[in-house]
Amino acid sequence: MFDVNALYAAGAIMDWDQQTMMPKGGAAARAAHSGILSRMAHERFTSDETARLLEEATNEVALGTEDAALVRVVRRDFDQSTKLPSAFVEEKSRLSSEAHEKWVQARETDSFATFAPTLEQMFSLARQEADYYGWTGHRYDALLDCYEEGWTAVDVQNMFGTIREPMVRLVEEIRERGQSTDAVGLNGTWDNNRQRKFSEHLIHAIGFDTDRGRLDTAPHPFCTGWSVTDIRLTTRFKDMIGSAIFGSLHEAGHGMYEQGSPLAWDRTPLAGGVSLGVHESQSRLWENIVGRSLPFWRKFLPELHANFPNLAAFDVDTFYRMINQVEPSLIRVEADEVTYNLHILIRFELEMALLAGEMQVADLPEAWRAKYQQYLGITPETDKEGCLQDVHWSMGGIGYFPTYTIGNLLSFQIWRKLTEEIPNTDDLIAVGNFAPILGWLQDRIYRHGRYYTPKELVLQATGKPLDANDYLAGITAKYRSVYSL
Ligand code: ZN
Repeated sequence: MFDVNALYAAGAIMDWDQQTMMPKGGAAARAAHSGILSRMAHERFTSDETARLLEEATNEVALGTEDAALVRVVRRDFDQSTKLPSAFVEEKSRLSSEAHEKWVQARETDSFATFAPTLEQMFSLARQEADYYGWTGHRYDALLDCYEEGWTAVDVQNMFGTIREPMVRLVEEIRERGQSTDAVGLNGTWDNNRQRKFSEHLIHAIGFDTDRGRLDTAPHPFCTGWSVTDIRLTTRFKDMIGSAIFGSLHEAGHGMYEQGSPLAWDRTPLAGGVSLGVHESQSRLWENIVGRSLPFWRKFLPELHANFPNLAAFDVDTFYRMINQVEPSLIRVEADEVTYNLHILIRFELEMALLAGEMQVADLPEAWRAKYQQYLGITPETDKEGCLQDVHWSMGGIGYFPTYTIGNLLSFQIWRKLTEEIPNTDDLIAVGNFAPILGWLQDRIYRHGRYYTPKELVLQATGKPLDANDYLAGITAKYRSVYSL
């Protein structure tokens, strides 16, 4: 088990290096090295010996123990890795790298037609993949389960069914009657070194352990790691001052979750986040609920002013409104907290239709435009700003998008429970005392790693299965106040 872990770790380090440090010329050699390493790891993990050990362990472990949890997660990973024939895995990997190249080109030249045949193949592979895993309700279930164990397409439909109308209405209300604040003052040329130092200061303040992790820069921010003692975050600098700050807080949320697994589980499959949705709940909680709150900036705005005197004109109430502006936009990764889930809803509806064969790939650009008009009241003029913007489908990540919305909803449900038990969070945040908040999350979520299934963890941590009530109540209250509605 530790051998397989070491091979995965080596691959992760090479991948981190590729995105942060590697010179351009290293790409071909890196691709070859990574390919060989992941094949070695896959072969080792899916070997007859693993199957035999797993069989033996299954008969020996006592229910309800750490060993039983370990056997359960290894069994899940093993089944997922062995259900796909190796010829299929190779074909998918080959087609994905080809599709990625084609997607990059199509996006550059804004020509969906050149990407369409490859995308058609990606969806055809996704159908096959779902069939290899097996499913009963909808093919989509098999793919979604890889990212969010126990979730089905019907669960996602119900989730969106609850939030669709209230969110569309809130966005409309903000647009028609809201008192907006000019946020243009956040744009400018900001010293990168100062931005980095300030971001490091913030993530350290909220509790990211910089003896067991670090922050670097990369074109696309991410969090990775290969041990609870070594978690890597990245951020990027843009002309908007919030980009690096909130990006860093977001990745630190992922990072603190990873750092929170027990040291005794390090380098075993029990360590780390339990699902993408639960992971995203932590990045969103620290980025949005804590990081975009009024008390947070009561504490940190004076320091921000000292570092960036151009912002000194904005008092804390104005700054709070500036960083919480809602604006229907075409690009998901730049979307605000309120419109974000509508971007996800659009993708979910489209990939369901494509997977079921109810819609043809050739009709995707038109369908995309229609849905943006329907849900956000805007229409992209190019496919680059439309159906060609996301990397996910080109990499075979079909069934992935709903985990973002699961994370958004869950962040509010967790926060509601946390504030029930720690009622003075605003006071704590305003003086920069984050330890009680982090301690609560550590106790209820982080220290459990993959011990429970995602649904068990949510029930145990918040006292109920995930629903949209806390999210709708929280987001509505916040934005009614920001926009004086
Ligand atoms: Zn994230």
